[in-house]
Amino acid sequence: MEPLSSPLLTKTTYISPTPALSIAPAQVIRGVDRLAEAGEAIAAFGSRPVIVGGDRTLKLIQPHLQPIIETHQLKANWANYTPDCSESSLEKLQQIGADHQGDLVIGVGGGKALDLAKLLAYRTRVPIITIPTSGATCAAWTALSNIYTNEGAFLYDVGLAKCPDLLILDYSLIQTAPMRTLIAGIGDAIAKWYEASVSSGHSEETLIVAAVQQARVLRDILFQKSVAALNEPGSQTWREVVDATVLLAGAIGGLGGAQCRTVAAHAVHNGLTHLSATHKTLHGEKVAYGILVQLRLEEMLQGNQLAASARGQLLKFYSDIHLPQTLADLGLGNITLAELRHGAEIACGEKSDIHRLPFKVCPESLMAAMVSTTVPVGATKS
Ligand SMILES: [Zn+2]
Repeated sequence: MEPLSSPLLTKTTYISPTPALSIAPAQVIRGVDRLAEAGEAIAAFGSRPVIVGGDRTLKLIQPHLQPIIETHQLKANWANYTPDCSESSLEKLQQIGADHQGDLVIGVGGGKALDLAKLLAYRTRVPIITIPTSGATCAAWTALSNIYTNEGAFLYDVGLAKCPDLLILDYSLIQTAPMRTLIAGIGDAIAKWYEASVSSGHSEETLIVAAVQQARVLRDILFQKSVAALNEPGSQTWREVVDATVLLAGAIGGLGGAQCRTVAAHAVHNGLTHLSATHKTLHGEKVAYGILVQLRLEEMLQGNQLAASARGQLLKFYSDIHLPQTLADLGLGNITLAELRHGAEIACGEKSDIHRLPFKVCPESLMAAMVSTTVPVGATKS
């Protein structure tokens, strides 16, 4: 086990100057009630799994994994990732893994549980299986982990050497999650287009061109199918939307790699996580709001009319599927100016992806964008 030192997981530690591509999991098993049939595939990777999840998801998965554990005579250790996907949780889990002599990590849950499980596997050099229990993120697919403080404030992301060895997408599990998680996943996934087209839209590199085009396809699938999917959980259309948020969003991240990065929508999310009042809202909800902020910046600072009409289109879509459009929708209707400035300053930090926008953004203009996400399209001219 490597000693844990701080700062332990900087990007440079993990990404060489010419990073290898980590496009996709080695295997994806998906279907209704497919986990029950995945015992052999799981047992092929190890016999002493550390199963990482949150309170709700470990309880949820236990009756599904227990028969597999018994049939294949696995020695499992169930480990809670709380308080957050943080350095201290990682340290705790590394100790648990070492004590258990774990030879496999199984991550179960939403973005944070899966991110920590992937990082634990990477640090302890064992295989990783991800089992998402909601459609809220593409974390089950990607070779990336986001690290937060114990209080849930975003710190940095870590590129991992590879995508998971096995991803098990069991639609029956996803269907047990609150509807709100899939709505958030739609918000996170649709951001791929608005961010990738800005950060990489002019690239000539084949795989990046492909990633940006897939992001547009992903956006269109979500525009076309989200309402019907949310009206009929478990239907074929619903499964297509789950595939979009969990699989295709991840595939775009894999194909685009480090150059096809997030821009202002995620930077706004990262800033907002430093306001404790946002901890009740989900990652994708904050990102969805962040897309509107990004488009406002493009409207206000660049006079970009395409951004204005894109915002109009998104506002309509958000009303249809109940994604947040304003600070008030995120439970931040009563924050002080100082708090708003604090979030904006973090979002504008030196290393923030907000600076991938083709113009300069300062906290003042970001604050102006953050409070005007729903201003009628065409009402302001730069
Ligand atoms: Zn995201």
